[in-house]
Amino acid sequence: MSNQNFRSILTGSFSTPCTDNPTVAMIEAAYRHAGIDARYINCDVKAGNLAAAVRGAVAMEWVGFNCSLPHKVAVIEYLDELAEAARIIGAVNCVTIRDGRLVGNNTDGKGFLASLREVIDPAGKKVFLLGAGGAARAIAVELGLAGVAHITVVNRDPAKAETIAALVRDNTKSDATARPWVGNARVPEGTDIVINATSVGLGDADAMVEVDLDTLAKGQVVADVIPNPPMTRFLREARQRGCTPLDGLGMLVNQGVIGVELWLGTTLDAGVMKQTLRDIFGASDAG
Ligand code: NDP
Repeated sequence: MSNQNFRSILTGSFSTPCTDNPTVAMIEAAYRHAGIDARYINCDVKAGNLAAAVRGAVAMEWVGFNCSLPHKVAVIEYLDELAEAARIIGAVNCVTIRDGRLVGNNTDGKGFLASLREVIDPAGKKVFLLGAGGAARAIAVELGLAGVAHITVVNRDPAKAETIAALVRDNTKSDATARPWVGNARVPEGTDIVINATSVGLGDADAMVEVDLDTLAKGQVVADVIPNPPMTRFLREARQRGCTPLDGLGMLVNQGVIGVELWLGTTLDAGVMKQTLRDIFGASDAG
């Protein structure tokens, strides 16, 4: 009797709406696979309840939680400390609770980078980044911290692109410039990595970002943040032109792996997590 333990380690997520978020299935499959007695509770937390939810997590001695829309910026006021990237990005999607202290991290960009590093070392490379929303911002900052040479940020709303380019220039050693997105975007010669960080392609395998496909070059890495369906039309077109496609499943899996490393100090099995998501998304060809 005495060596039995009926108390699970608690982790989870605060967002609203939360019903479509598959992270719980991905992480709990990996907890089970590793034989870790931990739970990941997917909580619907409305904006006005965020403070109470955070206090509750501390009171129940959760070891950490993710926060997604609409809490990524609002949660910062309840934290004791911010990791460097989260401070620069100005958004937190992963909070660690240790001895009652709350530390904010941003694992979106780190997840992307871990996925990217499986195919290319970004240091010294030239990047063409489509989009200037939250995902693009996190990716741009991490790429800057990873020492890319230059990032061109392209967005329909050019002011948002300039904000991200300035963040990179001011906070990292990398250079960055902004461009308005007019018509089919042309990828500059000498680009090593092209990234779609817009929402184009989410839930629509035929949707296509407005890019001049003839300006893609053989051997380039072409990445997409869209996790579902993972093999977007942009990635299929890029693969046909001899580029190396990188799907958004890897980003999603790796940000989960990194979050659990921060909470538990354990590295979960990325393969189990990826297969769980593929089963959920019904994706057989994720490249
Ligand atoms: P935001 O709403 O913050 O930003 C959306 C971006 O997409 C904006 O730059 C917007 O441009 C651009 N955009 C939307 N529609 C078009 C279009 N038709 N043509 C050109 N640009 C367009 O969203 P997020 O940055 O938070 O998320 C973007 C995507 O990233 C989502 O689909 C999400 O699923 C994915 N994501 C994936 C993750 C993963 O782990 N794989 C993690 C986080 C996000 P404008 O500013 O001009 O409106």
